[in-house]
Amino acid sequence: MGYVAFMNLETRIEALNKVGKTTAKRLERLGIFTVNNLLHHYPFRYEDFSRVAPIKELREGDAVTVKGAIELIANRRIRNRRSLTEALLTDETGSIRLVWFNQPYLTKNLETGTEVYISGVVKRDSLGLQFVSPAYELASRRNIHTARLVPMYPLTEGITQKQVRFLVEQSLPAASNLVDWLPEKIKKENNLITLGEAIKQIHFPDSDAQINSATERLKFDELFLVQLQTELARHERTVLRAPALTFHEEEIKKFVAGLLFILTKDQKIAAWEILKNIAEEAPMNRLLSGDVGSGKTVVAAVALYNAVLSGFQGIMMAPTEILAFQHFDSVCRLLPDQTLALFTRSQHLIFKNQERSEVSKKELQKIITSGEANVILGTHALLSEGVEFKNVGLAVVDEQHRFGVLQRKVIKEKGRGVHFLSMTATPIPRSLALMVYGDLDVSIIREMPPGRKPVTTRIVEPRNRDKAYEFIRKEVEKGGQVFVVCPLIEDNPSAQIEKKSVLTEYKKLSEQIFPEMRVSYLHGKMKGEEKEKIMAAFKNKENDILVSTSVIEVGVDVPNATVMMVEGADRFGLAQLHQFRGRVGRSDKQSYCFVFSDNGSSRTLERLRFFEKHQNGFELAEKDLELRGPGEVYGTTQSGMMQLRLAKLSDTALIKKARESARVILSQLLEFPELVKKMKEWKESVHLE
Ligand code: ADP
Ligand code: MG
Repeated sequence: MGYVAFMNLETRIEALNKVGKTTAKRLERLGIFTVNNLLHHYPFRYEDFSRVAPIKELREGDAVTVKGAIELIANRRIRNRRSLTEALLTDETGSIRLVWFNQPYLTKNLETGTEVYISGVVKRDSLGLQFVSPAYELASRRNIHTARLVPMYPLTEGITQKQVRFLVEQSLPAASNLVDWLPEKIKKENNLITLGEAIKQIHFPDSDAQINSATERLKFDELFLVQLQTELARHERTVLRAPALTFHEEEIKKFVAGLLFILTKDQKIAAWEILKNIAEEAPMNRLLSGDVGSGKTVVAAVALYNAVLSGFQGIMMAPTEILAFQHFDSVCRLLPDQTLALFTRSQHLIFKNQERSEVSKKELQKIITSGEANVILGTHALLSEGVEFKNVGLAVVDEQHRFGVLQRKVIKEKGRGVHFLSMTATPIPRSLALMVYGDLDVSIIREMPPGRKPVTTRIVEPRNRDKAYEFIRKEVEKGGQVFVVCPLIEDNPSAQIEKKSVLTEYKKLSEQIFPEMRVSYLHGKMKGEEKEKIMAAFKNKENDILVSTSVIEVGVDVPNATVMMVEGADRFGLAQLHQFRGRVGRSDKQSYCFVFSDNGSSRTLERLRFFEKHQNGFELAEKDLELRGPGEVYGTTQSGMMQLRLAKLSDTALIKKARESARVILSQLLEFPELVKKMKEWKESVHLE
């Protein structure tokens, strides 16, 4: 077996020993085209066969290696046209039987007298101890498959562990050509080994300690590149100057003291973090994360008020008309001495001298452009209908992950930065926030205002469905309202398992179960206007039951709703179920959440039980992350997350180190051309938006 004469990192795999067209095609499925790709195809675990023992000492169950000579070897036919290869392996201390199935060619590879290493788990049958289908390797060669920590690789059909190991081993000399792009001082500060060393050790380590140091270095690389990217984005943004919105301490204190409730500790901290942030000229880019009902609006109002006190306009944008109106309503109460505007597609309201009035669209535009209105609330219409602001100092967006559009527009208009606050009720675990929203600062409201009654949550077994309906009937008779959430809009006739759909459930509930009640439905394929109408009607108590898809997830306030019923609950993530549950329990009445699932698997049940027992959105989000991974939970496949092969979100300490190193190196980037080059390659491979 000779090595390829001229091998470098770019050498195509076809040029390697024993790689023909078919094998090459299969390897491509694993993303392996070149020697370099092979070197970065990491094992996902190792089997420890490093203990080499004399045959005499073998015990049943040992995972072990034996060095010996093949004494006898022969094939024999067994049932179903299968073949069995039997051999006897001997060393100075004794002999042991080896058996393999359907590998008759072994008698040619392992002729009598051959010196070999055999690795496997010792088994016992009526004939005594034996190895069944062990790994073997000629003793004259360097150990790859036996007598060591053996790497186990991700595979694809038609490719074996042995093949991958053989190819990686062949490619290993090229690792010396890898450019170690990580600056020396970062390696030193973080006790990291060189890249070439790490690559060699990740594949063929001699000890657990080597696995650890290799893993640490390679994980660090992945995390460092993500962090450096976000630090760069942050840096680019902070080159812009935003107006420093000075902290008007006295007025703010008075405002807080005048509220009908006392701010929770978390609300105070969040407000303080925001106020401190917007007092600077570097534009704020902050995420305010807090469960449904945790009181984010008042925190935003504090910030908006401070912007107004500093002589600037504040805007607040919501994803739907209803939500925009809800905010307008709240902010009118919170800031009664200001002039507020509500601008949506169909609503043009002004609040002035403590009175609301409807004005024409044109008029409202003028009021906003002139600066007469100092707090402006609205939807996307604010952007699409060409509203010009006088001088925005702070922009707040609620439940909109894509607020980049607004950001770009406001900045473009005036050519300078604006402070940004994005609010979300999707609880984002700290670890994820650090990775995905690395360029955002995060404020978290964890505790709920006092006096909230937790929503009573129950998994309802299929046989108790009627009881649940009876319960609902009583709630409605008492004047309550009910949400029913289904995973699908329409029934899918070809579906294997029955999954609940809005249209079928609507028909069933309105015609058979509750014919005396007022039932309506809502789903994502309806027009925006229609959806808003139905939501508004429900909010106005014109209906008793609203059957809908997950579109009701986003925060519409229907304080009178006391029951949330979720069909096909196994189809939703925990964080999402929690959002549904947050639709009820918004008044002082006791509320209920019933989850139904026809999928009785133990995994589903475990998940739903967890939901039943936990009311804290952050705990649920963490669990979700653990069970389903970040891609599925947060749709973060775009954000460089996919580049994490070894690193995990739970590598908090390492994430922190990588972030600190990225911050330090940022200002000296040009001194490290190899790092800059690596960054560019990385960005291309991630396809960032
Ligand atoms: P969300 O975070 O979901 O946007 P809101 O801001 O709509 O929550 O607040 C929900 C309700 O809680 C509102 O009626 C608000 O007035 C009330 N609230 C907010 N903070 C407190 C507090 N500290 N104590 C009592 N009630 C509060
Ligand atoms: Mg809200």
